[in-house]
Amino acid sequence: MKAKILISACLLGDRVRYDGDDNGVDSVILRQWQMEGRLVSVCPEVAGGLSIPRAPAEVQHGDGHQVIHGYAQIITVAGDDVTKAFLRGAQLALSRANEHGCRFAVLAARSPSCGNDGIYDGTFSHKLVAGMGVTAALLTEHHIEVFNQSQIAQLADRLAELEA
Ligand code: SF4
Repeated sequence: MKAKILISACLLGDRVRYDGDDNGVDSVILRQWQMEGRLVSVCPEVAGGLSIPRAPAEVQHGDGHQVIHGYAQIITVAGDDVTKAFLRGAQLALSRANEHGCRFAVLAARSPSCGNDGIYDGTFSHKLVAGMGVTAALLTEHHIEVFNQSQIAQLADRLAELEA
């Protein structure tokens, strides 16, 4: 059976980003996976109840793991606390992954929800720090391997090994 992959909706061209745009990726591998019916799309922030467009938000004083465990918050540029919506979206993304049996995810890099290898530092000045977004952290804590759009080839190698 072909492994299912949870994917950030914005990487498939859905205009769900905070600014109403997308992060569409032109990838032969992604197109192949889509044709094979492997991809399960989700936008955690929209699933969590946030609007399009919405104010940009960043994790303050920590990363997604610390948000999940109550030690950090997600605050918009206007100063509103949107932690609950981000946590709700992460839980819904995890439920969707589990419903479809996804053991892998490809999520958009640097997002406070989806980033798997660095997020912005909470100062809204485009400075990256180590850490994951909330959804990437929650999926990882539930043993789902998270890749980003620069790591699609790595995931393809991983699947080729598993399915050989
Ligand atoms: S929450 Fe994830 S899927 Fe939604 S726009 Fe942000 S990066 Fe894309």
